[in-house]
Amino acid sequence: PIPGADAPNCIDGIEFLHAFSAGRLSSVPKRVIVIGGGDTSIDVTTVARKLSGQAGGAAGKPATYTADMVTAQAVFGGAQVTLTTIFPLANIQASPREVADARSLNVDIHGGVMPLEILRDEKGHARGVRYGACRIEKNLPVRIEGGREFELECDLVIFAVGQKGNLTGLEALNNGRDAISAGGLFEVPGHPGHFVGGDIVTPHLLTTAIGHGWIAAEAIDVYLAGAVPAKRPKVDKHQFELIQALRHAGLELTDYSHEAVRGTYQAGFAVHNFDNRAEREIIKSSEQFLGISRPSRAWSARSGV
Ligand SMILES: Cc1cc2nc3c(=O)[nH]c(=O)nc-3n(C[C@H](O)[C@H](O)[C@H](O)COP(=O)(O)OP(=O)(O)OC[C@H]3O[C@@H](n4cnc5c(N)ncnc54)[C@H](O)[C@@H]3O)c2cc1C
Repeated sequence: PIPGADAPNCIDGIEFLHAFSAGRLSSVPKRVIVIGGGDTSIDVTTVARKLSGQAGGAAGKPATYTADMVTAQAVFGGAQVTLTTIFPLANIQASPREVADARSLNVDIHGGVMPLEILRDEKGHARGVRYGACRIEKNLPVRIEGGREFELECDLVIFAVGQKGNLTGLEALNNGRDAISAGGLFEVPGHPGHFVGGDIVTPHLLTTAIGHGWIAAEAIDVYLAGAVPAKRPKVDKHQFELIQALRHAGLELTDYSHEAVRGTYQAGFAVHNFDNRAEREIIKSSEQFLGISRPSRAWSARSGV
């Protein structure tokens, strides 16, 4: 535990995101420090930035995200959000894409620094964090002797540093790390008839949890039938029929008239999997593909232009 982290304005990242999703959070104070480095901490920083943008929206009206992007310079004068991580920036745990998202919202990111102390004001509130340069040894931060030390001022500290399970009532399954161990078929070792999957085994991705659930469901079926489970394939992939999955989710496809149409992204007969970057960043005109203005040399040579 970091000295001073029990200040009332030091909060947990998941609680922060939960409050935001539940609509209980409409603004953040001026200077926010997020301590983390994983994908969750990036979510916290981007929510904090967007909230600060909304708080500064025109005539007090919540601005839309797109409008936030367009008026980024003006509106994002709001909260100053800083993310710090014990990992060097080159090895930050969050995916490069998530980090790029945070940077596009002007989040300051400091890597290779560990919080040493939460600095408090006379009322006991956090007013800043004192940091020291660190390196990672066996996944733990170790202070660099004589390394730089600095303070960052803040009005709110949000910790997004790992998650652990709440196994109240399930203590017998606790593997001692507030998690539940899983065997090859996601059975709980030493607990016949018990199966487990998802983040409680090890926090990862939604698709991982779904994969665990798929294997566990098949194993439960075999277990209940009193049969011997077959060996699972080395590459244990799960395939599904897209049309059936859409139907199952109540997204029935409509018939295609086989006539030429323009713009199908809202059409009931087309399935799109696209990423609308414009929702989160302004793409400079120089980086956009605006058609071929000048034939390339190879093309010129071939066509004689
Ligand atoms: C901030 C954040 C951002 C993320 N972003 C992504 C992302 O972009 N992409 C991605 O793939 N993954 C992401 N993840 C990870 C992903 O959310 C998890 O890997 C996934 O939700 C794990 O699924 P799960 O079913 O194991 O657990 P959960 O989704 O946590 O579901 C567990 C459920 O069990 C309930 N529960 C808990 N205890 C009990 C009990 N005793 N009795 C009954 N019910 C109980 C809980 O209320 C909860 O509904 C993110 C995670 C976080 C925290």
